[in-house]
Amino acid sequence: MATPKSAIVVGAGMVGLCCAYALHLRGVKVTVLDRDPVGDKTSYGNAGALAISECVPHSLPGQIWSIPKWLIDPMGPLSIRPAHIPQLMPWLLSYLGHSRKNNVAHIAKALHAINSRVSADYDPMLANIGYGDKVRDKGCIRVYDNYENFKLSAQEWAIRKQYGQHYELLGEEDLRAMEPSIGKAKTFGVFQPQWRIIDDPKALVASLREWLVSQGVAIFATNAEALITQEKHVVGIKTSNGDYVADVSVVAAGAWSKKLSKQVGESCLLESERGYNTTLPYPNIQLNHELLFAEQMFAVSPLSIGVRVGGASEFAGLSAAPNFKRSDNLLALAKRFLPELDTQNGQQWMGHRPSTPDSLPVLGPSVKWQGLAYAFGHAHLGMTQAATSGQMLAEVLLDPETSTDLSAYSIGRFNE
Ligand SMILES: Cc1cc2nc3c(=O)[nH]c(=O)nc-3n(C[C@H](O)[C@H](O)[C@H](O)COP(=O)(O)OP(=O)(O)OC[C@H]3O[C@@H](n4cnc5c(N)ncnc54)[C@H](O)[C@@H]3O)c2cc1C
Repeated sequence: MATPKSAIVVGAGMVGLCCAYALHLRGVKVTVLDRDPVGDKTSYGNAGALAISECVPHSLPGQIWSIPKWLIDPMGPLSIRPAHIPQLMPWLLSYLGHSRKNNVAHIAKALHAINSRVSADYDPMLANIGYGDKVRDKGCIRVYDNYENFKLSAQEWAIRKQYGQHYELLGEEDLRAMEPSIGKAKTFGVFQPQWRIIDDPKALVASLREWLVSQGVAIFATNAEALITQEKHVVGIKTSNGDYVADVSVVAAGAWSKKLSKQVGESCLLESERGYNTTLPYPNIQLNHELLFAEQMFAVSPLSIGVRVGGASEFAGLSAAPNFKRSDNLLALAKRFLPELDTQNGQQWMGHRPSTPDSLPVLGPSVKWQGLAYAFGHAHLGMTQAATSGQMLAEVLLDPETSTDLSAYSIGRFNE
């Protein structure tokens, strides 16, 4: 691909804006297109964690035996709407296939390659946009019912250890000393100091968007309908408000991205893994860390706007109505383990995690087309990996000789 002087980024979520930022810093004239640039998106309502140590793939050996139990438990972490099963099947089979040991090793390495540079890529950007003091080094505590359950998750801790992630085991006394709000049902914890917490993800996205505009990046409210092709090149984007042309087009439209890639013959397995939460403005407890409840698989995040209780993986497609019973269930679980939590006045939310079956994003140039690149599919780690994804993409487009090898994230892996 010839060095691009102009770029269009489709998607003004955290990933698209970070791509715009990294390209803009390198002197590229950037235009961002989003059908609703300031409206709700996955990047707004998430748990706000920079989960730097999370190089553990979602699909793990032996996990298949837990799936039926999760599915039948109404308070469980996983649900699939029956009407969505036929569409989900190829993704699901691929997901299960990725639990093989050699796949797990390959995925963990590729996740670590991104996560190991998260702070180096985030911090200068946060300082530039004036958000540096609002991402805090609080760390995370993974909370277990007991030590025996912690031992059952040995394979995931072995992966973190392999990649040099420091963690500290907390007996009951230490756990409660660090987080006094945790009730008696939980007796063991693991502290992961690397985690950082964004004060308010929506405010961070707004700060970045506003900074980009102040620097001359154009952001237009329009729906990207198709990629415009000429011979072997993508030359721009056809939208509801006319055509936009540029040297390179970047598809960063989160869970909606595959519609555009598919139109140009680059299919991928991408599902909306819907997540739910409730933000409690007056929680009545003071949390010092992000809390992850290991067996029940949900998170409680201390944000500046309150305590956010969230999680769940629901596969129901992009257009099905939210089932806020899931937010209620998560809140009931949180109350069970944090007895003093005031669950009144909560604001419920549902968002679409853009998830691939191998837990890796789709990041890098198109395999088939000049002038086209992708940055989507970050699933549970989109906030964590956004700044690095933007930088890696800009490096590969503008300085391919010295850039990181992005082959593990290529869209080509779905079309081999
Ligand atoms: C409950 C929950 C908790 C989470 N917690 C965390 C966390 O703690 N840490 C973490 O790292 N990640 C977390 N995530 C994941 C993270 O939020 C996502 O991976 C990330 O926000 C995805 O960002 P994005 O920019 O790819 O997508 P989005 O934020 O969804 O943005 C996509 C944008 O594309 C636009 N768009 C789509 N199609 C078109 C089109 N055709 N034309 C124009 N515009 C279009 C949309 O309007 C949207 O603005 C969580 C997710 C959920 C649901």
